[in-house]
Amino acid sequence: MVSLEEISAFIVDMDGVLYRGNTAIPGADKFISTLEETGRNYLLLTNNSSLTPAQYEAKLAKMGIKVNQARIFTSAQATAFYLRSIAKEGAKVFLIGMEGIREALLAAGFTLAEDKDVDFVVVGIDLNLTYEKLKKAALAIRAGASFIGTNPDRTLPTEEGLCPGNGAILAALEAATEVKPTIIGKPSPLIFELALKRLGSTPEKTAVVGDRLETDILGAHQAGLKSILVLSGVTDESSLIAANPKPDFVFASVKELAEALRGG
Ligand SMILES: [Mg+2]
Repeated sequence: MVSLEEISAFIVDMDGVLYRGNTAIPGADKFISTLEETGRNYLLLTNNSSLTPAQYEAKLAKMGIKVNQARIFTSAQATAFYLRSIAKEGAKVFLIGMEGIREALLAAGFTLAEDKDVDFVVVGIDLNLTYEKLKKAALAIRAGASFIGTNPDRTLPTEEGLCPGNGAILAALEAATEVKPTIIGKPSPLIFELALKRLGSTPEKTAVVGDRLETDILGAHQAGLKSILVLSGVTDESSLIAANPKPDFVFASVKELAEALRGG
């Protein structure tokens, strides 16, 4: 039986945990201040590669949630760190993606190129996706470039409903090339290893707080971390019955989790 007191570090998902769309989940600001006031270490982790940490800091601030961008870790940064660890000097990348992943790759010293002769094809969510981009990516993969996906999410929840997510773009390229991408974001252990390194923590002392069973909870389990499910996002109580693996803790939202962390 795991006790909340044994957990000194938290890896906190954002969408469905701290906010939905552009609306804060009640108690999210208090949850963050509780982590700080009770001396817990934490990182906000998102699979979405479209925004930069500075843009996330601004998005959270608009909703009254004060977090320094140094606490924000995205699949875009994780992808750049991972590539840096395996790429040769001067490696070239063909990119499908937006500002978040673009900035992370450039900051890591990669050259973005359009030709077939690239070392990596990196694919993140791109709201300006065109056939031309898919074509160039497919030709580069066929010519031998490594195929990397920032995150596998097949859908993107929006105010209009479930729209195509990065996983849908990856599926198109997989169909066109018969090559499966290497995935960096949740539930891949890669992103949790990088997050732990950033926190300076160990799996035993760290919990993932998330709303999605197949990414947050499964990923935490596979990487040996504790898991805390909140029911403020995509998962309801009924889908918990069939869940495998099951989370170590379940709370209605981070409001109730904060109360438990304060010991009352
Ligand atoms: Mg989520």
